[in-house]
Amino acid sequence: MGLDVNWAVRWLTRSAQAMADHRVELIDLDRPIGDSDHGENMDRGFRAVMDKLAESPPETPAAALKLTAMTLMSKVGGAAGPLYGTAFLRASTALGDLADVDAATLVAALRAARDGIVARGKAETGDKTMVDAWTPAVEAAAAAAGDGGDGDVHTVLLAAAEAAEAGAVSTDPMLARKGRASYLGERSIGHRDPGAVSSALILRAAAGAAE
Ligand code: ADP
Ligand code: MG
Repeated sequence: MGLDVNWAVRWLTRSAQAMADHRVELIDLDRPIGDSDHGENMDRGFRAVMDKLAESPPETPAAALKLTAMTLMSKVGGAAGPLYGTAFLRASTALGDLADVDAATLVAALRAARDGIVARGKAETGDKTMVDAWTPAVEAAAAAAGDGGDGDVHTVLLAAAEAAEAGAVSTDPMLARKGRASYLGERSIGHRDPGAVSSALILRAAAGAAE
């Protein structure tokens, strides 16, 4: 069975819940290497997504992701707003008008999201950004989907979430080369990147919604 619009709405609802639950943690991560607003930004953005979903219920997974993209772009601000906005918009485009998303299309959408973040922010792997969560997530998702792309969608999302979580942890020893944290140079070493952590939370929410 593929992922339908109800999955997409459950994913976004779980993401909103995760941003609320981890708001303080994300603020604390953004304090030493940023400006302490990441938890606030993400919580505000996803609360606005929930309002929009209630106002105009989407009919396809792509429509749900497009609504999310537009809302995050206008409500999140900072670096993360346009980055997540681009990610959700590119993922939405990759889904087309499918009612049910299979593993191959899911991997394509995750890859499109990651490529959108890279196109927008120009960060490479190892620069200590959310890309360090997304790139391993896409690779793990592709491996889980298999050569024919006929893997189980829940397994694919679980693999993505686990890899993103490990990717977030992997940012600890990195020296930041992009975004606000890069202003700190060597002093950015030893801190976890907040955007990599919020990315892992969003991918974990996607897996949870597919259970
Ligand atoms: P701001 O840095 O404007 O305060 P946020 O605190 O909401 O915005 O988001 C910071 C996060 O954005 C970082 O932890 C990092 O993951 C991500 N980020 C910042 N710049 C880039 C970039 N150029 N490419 C990818 N991700 C980035
Ligand atoms: Mg910040």
